[in-house]
Amino acid sequence: MAQTVGILGGGQLARMMAIAGAPLGLRFRVVDTVKDACASQVAPLICADYNDFDAITAFSEGIDVVTFDFENVPADTAMFLASRVPVFPNPQALAVAQDRLEEKQLFQRLGMLTPEFATVDSREDLEAGVAKVGLPAILKTRRLGYDGKGQVRIKSKDDLNAAWAKLGDVPLILEAMVPFEREISVVAVRGRGGEFATYPLTQNFHQNSILSASLSPAPNTGAIQETAVGYARRLAEELDYVGVFALELFVHQGRLLANEMAPRVHNSGHWTIEGARTSQFENHLRAVLGWPLGGTEAHETSVLLNWIGEVPDALPVLSEPLGHWHDYGKTPRAGRKVGHATFTGPAAEVAAALGRLAAALNRPDQIEPVLEAMKA
Ligand code: AMP
Repeated sequence: MAQTVGILGGGQLARMMAIAGAPLGLRFRVVDTVKDACASQVAPLICADYNDFDAITAFSEGIDVVTFDFENVPADTAMFLASRVPVFPNPQALAVAQDRLEEKQLFQRLGMLTPEFATVDSREDLEAGVAKVGLPAILKTRRLGYDGKGQVRIKSKDDLNAAWAKLGDVPLILEAMVPFEREISVVAVRGRGGEFATYPLTQNFHQNSILSASLSPAPNTGAIQETAVGYARRLAEELDYVGVFALELFVHQGRLLANEMAPRVHNSGHWTIEGARTSQFENHLRAVLGWPLGGTEAHETSVLLNWIGEVPDALPVLSEPLGHWHDYGKTPRAGRKVGHATFTGPAAEVAAALGRLAAALNRPDQIEPVLEAMKA
């Protein structure tokens, strides 16, 4: 009988999961607090608050497995669901990834390098933190931050009052600002039986703290490949993690520093839809269902471009033989991820297509850093 996967959260990640699951014969049921969340265009959606346990009970009835499209699911809801149906990744793994401090402490316990950090619960802690990690630094809320939200950069002591005024009412973490050479991520998958695989390392590019582009396989990773994969494996085993996750890393002076873990399919893995043997979405579903994992090898070179705020004209992408267009069907809004494009093929042809696109869409700031990295 067809299996049904329940997803908490109905954004583009749930949407792409449901699209990946259709050929596998899977059914989906999604919960979101917004009734027209974009996954509702491809899967039945229950509109409810995540703390509404009556609605969550109704959602869980007849479902074979539950997973998530975002990490900030209330812990009680994840635990409640786990008492009724298999839930992957497990609620404890979610809880660790919800708290930047616990997450970095775990990284350190596992022998992973991280940026210097300090706990900040008071104005005095902030002073002490600056003395410990130095300046420039970055003050972050421990919980609920994403895409640069809940973060303030501190260049000098003059910035402390403003930073405290902005964020001081919640638990914080202060981190040294790492002058990294580049950012990479490891997208990994672990099955219910402990089988583990990673996609090729991906190099990530940001604009205004939001992922703007990804290049995979990341160039020149010979010296860091093994460490990056080792970090991801240790983390997955420690958390008894099941499903896809991403580990974001800074490369600084040839060393890898762990920034954060996303306990879900990840934006820097969207290129796998067209660029890898099995997409991260299919592999996440295979993992949470206890099925064998699919191959994670990349076909060739892939570049992902995020559309943030609004989607541009589709034609310049659709006219490129290597181009793939994704529109999440979301209402345009500043800072919102509303779609992406992926270019997959031989590196030189991908670069040529990107050069044409940069001109056609007038997006040099988004595309030129990727072309630079491809030359390296
Ligand atoms: P996060 O939400 O922690 O992933 O931060 C968003 C982005 O801000 C990262 O992808 C980096 O580009 C930048 N960032 C965050 N933390 C640091 C840090 N400690 N040093 C330098 N850049 C950082």
